[in-house]
Amino acid sequence: WNYHQTHFVLSAPDIRHLPSDTGIEVAFAGRSNAGKSSALNTLTNQKGLARTSKTPGRTQLINLFEVADGKRLVDLPGYGYAEVPEEVKLKWQRALGEYLQKRNSLKGLVVLMDIRHPLKDLDQQMVNWAVASNIEVMILLTKADKLASGARKAQLNMVREAAAAFGGNIEIEAFSSLKKIGVDKLRQKLDNWYND
Ligand code: GDP
Repeated sequence: WNYHQTHFVLSAPDIRHLPSDTGIEVAFAGRSNAGKSSALNTLTNQKGLARTSKTPGRTQLINLFEVADGKRLVDLPGYGYAEVPEEVKLKWQRALGEYLQKRNSLKGLVVLMDIRHPLKDLDQQMVNWAVASNIEVMILLTKADKLASGARKAQLNMVREAAAAFGGNIEIEAFSSLKKIGVDKLRQKLDNWYND
């Protein structure tokens, strides 16, 4: 698919406001500041598609984009931002769990984690929920340019070994928006999901 044609459709305050549950959806999730907006902009080659966060945790909106007719990208709000009140966090976590469990069109979940601090509790919870709901998962270890190639490979291997415990068939790749690392792997994965 030509990801350069992706366009914004709508922002939703919660999953009940998403459009009808048809076609194929791929969602992007990650802790605030993991590099999710940058990754979406890199994928689509559009600088301003997803807003990169100057105030992480502020945008608690689901942003929905269309790659082609019936093929959607869903930008889920970043999680784990310390300054969000506990009550809001819990509410949002429940909503995320519900979305992963109930959204029929959801085919794949891309979970972005900073390569220097992967597999935090909420990251693991997202992957566990997805696997339990038969949603395929791709983990992108972001900001890979921050590590030299030896350290990058070590992190990649560590996460690959740890991820075996999740079950399912999880592809894990190093990614950098800055240096355009892993972009083709991401596009291939999305192509597979959208072509199914
Ligand atoms: P989000 O909160 O997950 O949407 O993260 P953003 O895309 O807004 O990025 C958070 C911060 O990480 C920003 O300061 C970005 O410039 C930086 N960042 C994002 N991607 C990369 C990358 O590939 N390499 C480096 N070095 N920094 C990145």
